[in-house]
Amino acid sequence: MYPSRFSYEAPNSLSEAISLLHDGGDDAKVLAGGQSLVPLMKLRFASPALLVDINNVPGLDYHREDADGTLRVGALCRHADLERSALVKDKQPVMAAAAPLIADPIVRNRGTLVGSLCHADPQGDWASVVTALGGHVVAQGPAGRRTIPMASFVTGPFQNALAPDEIAVEAVVPAPAGNPGGGYLKLERRVGDFATVGVAVAIERSGGTVTRAGIALTGVGGSTITAAEAATALVGAPLSPESIERAADLAAQASNPRTDHRGSAEYKRHMVRTFVVRILNRADEAERAA
Ligand SMILES: Cc1cc2nc3c(=O)[nH]c(=O)nc-3n(C[C@H](O)[C@H](O)[C@H](O)COP(=O)(O)OP(=O)(O)OC[C@H]3O[C@@H](n4cnc5c(N)ncnc54)[C@H](O)[C@@H]3O)c2cc1C
Repeated sequence: MYPSRFSYEAPNSLSEAISLLHDGGDDAKVLAGGQSLVPLMKLRFASPALLVDINNVPGLDYHREDADGTLRVGALCRHADLERSALVKDKQPVMAAAAPLIADPIVRNRGTLVGSLCHADPQGDWASVVTALGGHVVAQGPAGRRTIPMASFVTGPFQNALAPDEIAVEAVVPAPAGNPGGGYLKLERRVGDFATVGVAVAIERSGGTVTRAGIALTGVGGSTITAAEAATALVGAPLSPESIERAADLAAQASNPRTDHRGSAEYKRHMVRTFVVRILNRADEAERAA
């Protein structure tokens, strides 16, 4: 199917893009990698009157580390940039585990992490990863910049906290205070598919004790699920078989899957539990081996 008729603008600056969005109101949409928006337009599930393509805006294709270890991912940083990044490989184990699992190489070459957060698909992998890492989104609109914690950025399925005239300019992952660990595991029907179940677990340890933990779930609810109680169960002590089992049980309880063609609700809940145990056991083994 062809998309509905729309106008297209490709501004050369952020301020021009924001002003176009402001004038376009609810009928205008940002185009980043186009890997979610264009398919939706072709199916006519989305029919924006105006597309504001930000690909000509300079200076948004970065991912970099601040002096204190904070990671910043610009709005035009592609999935593939993160997959190939030495910085991510060395410093961000949860992101490094997730990057190669997003879609397929063609989608990863165009699609962006920030676009994925904005799209707020319950099956989007990055939202769980950035939530587990305690990240936030920096939005810029006519009134300037503001910071939106990832835990409140996704407001529902395919909904986010941005105003229609705001652009998400970067996603920010705070510097780990301790030794970072964890990972992302995804059950997919075939390589390149969306998640049947995805689990992100991020921990930080000092002297073996877990000082911070975040757990978030993909594809097992109406939107990304923050398993806060499960994460809290890990904090304040070293990882142990008991704390791992407890966190896994609480994460499974926090999930809210539906039975569908990908599997039963019971199976998906079981996979959440299995993935939490697997990620934490691997993190424990990695620290013992270090
Ligand atoms: C075949 C296929 C398989 C896929 N598999 C997966 C998968 O396994 N896992 C997964 O997580 N994703 C998957 N995706 C989605 C893919 O990751 C997209 O790249 C991502 O969801 C959106 O990023 P984008 O840059 O392409 O955004 P776009 O498609 O350009 O935009 C998506 C939405 O976000 C908004 N938006 C984008 N950037 C901004 C911004 N900076 N500020 C404000 N609003 C913005 C747009 O207006 C639009 O509403 C798949 C896509 C395809 C086509």
